[in-house]
Amino acid sequence: MTWEERWHPLREEWVIIAAHRQNRPWNGEMLDHPDEALPPYVSDCYLCPGNTRVSSRRNEDYTGTFVFDNDHPCVGIDAPQDLKRPCGIYRNRAAKGQARVVCYSPNHAVTLAELEPGEIEALLRVWQEQYRDLGSLEGINYVLIFENKGEAVGVSNPHPHCQIYATNFVFKTIATEVHASQRHFAETGRILFQDILEAERSDGRRIIAENETAVAFMPYFARYAFEVFVAPKATHPNLDRLSETELKDFAAVLKTTLVRFDNLWRMSFPYVMVLHQAPTDGGDYHAFHFHIEFHPPLRRPNLLKYLAGPEIGGGNFLSDTAPEEKAAELRAAGDMHYKTCPVKEGNEPPL
Ligand SMILES: [Zn+2]
Ligand SMILES: [Zn+2]
Repeated sequence: MTWEERWHPLREEWVIIAAHRQNRPWNGEMLDHPDEALPPYVSDCYLCPGNTRVSSRRNEDYTGTFVFDNDHPCVGIDAPQDLKRPCGIYRNRAAKGQARVVCYSPNHAVTLAELEPGEIEALLRVWQEQYRDLGSLEGINYVLIFENKGEAVGVSNPHPHCQIYATNFVFKTIATEVHASQRHFAETGRILFQDILEAERSDGRRIIAENETAVAFMPYFARYAFEVFVAPKATHPNLDRLSETELKDFAAVLKTTLVRFDNLWRMSFPYVMVLHQAPTDGGDYHAFHFHIEFHPPLRRPNLLKYLAGPEIGGGNFLSDTAPEEKAAELRAAGDMHYKTCPVKEGNEPPL
């Protein structure tokens, strides 16, 4: 039984772990509606090669990845520049920035988990390039790369893709992590994320996948049942700084993590995936350690983690599951994608 509060050193906040209320292990229940097989091309998909989008622009007949400007940008050059000043203490400004979409593959039916390691490496290189290009633009202080995957997080088009918001401000979570990392360095002379990796290695129970230079783990302070961090072992402020070997290793660990997610309940696993990279505002970020965070919304195949009073109202998370138990379930999930192995193997629920 796990019933305690755990400190989240990157967000500098407490997470309540109340797993004593819910300690029934997963009983093998699967999703009500198994994944339906999708065709590799859909004529009215706005992301498939050669199709015309709502802006009446036509997608290239791409064969690998494909990057384009979002037709419905939340920030962009078309945002109104001459704004009316609000009353009193209130402030506003133009929603400057750029929003882009990155298609992972021309194949409508695959997901990131199903891409070949070489295709994932190619995608990582696209992310490097986008971070470099957008980050070097005047007035762009942050490049947020993220994927919302699955209907559980509101995405109806399954075509594999992610989004990029390049903004004139640094996103709050990143600003908090930067602040925590810098303060830890000033106080101890050490990199905060390295201390987290060290603690995870010493415990060992929450490591999900690992190779020479990269690691995936469910953090001690996980806020979601299946929250996983994927990181290079060496500290780099952004993905662009990884060596060729580190990039390949990172792609391999990312792939294993995604396959374990899908194998867990033999379904395409929904998540919000976010690259946590250093801001691009010219600051000193040597203490910031690049990582990817996965925030899956499901606790069980048909059970969403609802954000409610503690999370929305109070701003701190209440988790009904113990990270050690959920990590064990993920570790037990096979590392060969279920769609490619005919016989169910390696994803039996732990006793
Ligand atoms: Zn498509
Ligand atoms: Zn982070």
